[in-house]
Amino acid sequence: MAVVVSKSKVRNGGTSGDAMQLRRDPITNTWVLQANADTGSGDLEGCPMCPGGRASALGTIYEYPYGDPNWQVRVIPHLHPLYRIEGDPERQAEGIYDRMRNLGAHELVIETPEHGLQLSHQSDEHVAQVLRAYVARLVDLKKDQRFRFVTVFRNQGAAAGDDFEHPHSEITATPFIPRRVTYELRASQLYFQLKERCLICDVIHQELSEQIRTVEWDEKFVAFCPYASRVPYETWLLPLDHNCAFEQGLGDWNSQLHFARLLRSVLRRLEAVSSAYHFVLHTSPNTNAKFERKGNWQTLADDYHWHMEILPVIPSKAKSYSLKEVYYNTLEPETAARELRKVAVTD
Ligand SMILES: [Zn+2]
Ligand SMILES: [Zn+2]
Ligand SMILES: [Zn+2]
Repeated sequence: MAVVVSKSKVRNGGTSGDAMQLRRDPITNTWVLQANADTGSGDLEGCPMCPGGRASALGTIYEYPYGDPNWQVRVIPHLHPLYRIEGDPERQAEGIYDRMRNLGAHELVIETPEHGLQLSHQSDEHVAQVLRAYVARLVDLKKDQRFRFVTVFRNQGAAAGDDFEHPHSEITATPFIPRRVTYELRASQLYFQLKERCLICDVIHQELSEQIRTVEWDEKFVAFCPYASRVPYETWLLPLDHNCAFEQGLGDWNSQLHFARLLRSVLRRLEAVSSAYHFVLHTSPNTNAKFERKGNWQTLADDYHWHMEILPVIPSKAKSYSLKEVYYNTLEPETAARELRKVAVTD
């Protein structure tokens, strides 16, 4: 979700993930990860993420409870990382082009020791612990001045390109800001300059007053199908109180628990229409990054609003995905929200 991966051959490339590089499309300014080899799983000896599996040997980045053999949530380095943490970006020109190493971080959040227990079926408290792990990793990775952007995403189901069956999400830190987030940041900044208000706060206000695309909300968070949904049942989760950064907005247990409740409920509604989905966190870029120009983010705290976007993958409505440049959504968001509201969510 965060970056386009092209598996075309690169010149002088080897065959391992180490030979990956990032190239910038000079027309759209989009960074594309160039890989030589399939970075997919191919794990033949059982599940690497179950307790005692191959992933146990990779080292622990985060664990809850810490040091407990009966851990509930664990973060480890990714088994097939798209990004490598060591060194510098070594950004260089190649004629008019730009390229750099695939510097970054790529971590796996093992959401539970239980192989078959998907996120939506875990308890609110457990999902809140998973969210707490996300917060801890975002805070830690944003201390690294080499990274401009840190995010969390989750692919569930083979149709969504899920590499492992074991419930997990992924964290990436990159030396660039992904394209869609860049668009959002620019649009939010421009809107703020014109109106001195947060664009997403205004969107939330309108959605809550119209209540035709809203799926669910409480006093802290709202879920709705966005006005220009790209795919059927696309749903966003957002905090009602303005905050640009996920790790600040969900910095306390009460908020984590609240958001966990809404996330589980929305996932259950979506799973009634599709077992496969992507979710991705859109949050404030790393303002500590070394090369971030000082003036760039002057109004960021006021103009940007973190949120989570969930994009279900429905193969029977695959038209949406056939046109990559212009999304063609075959289900109006008003209808999608009406159907999702009707789904009975029970434990
Ligand atoms: Zn497993
Ligand atoms: Zn806002
Ligand atoms: Zn977004």
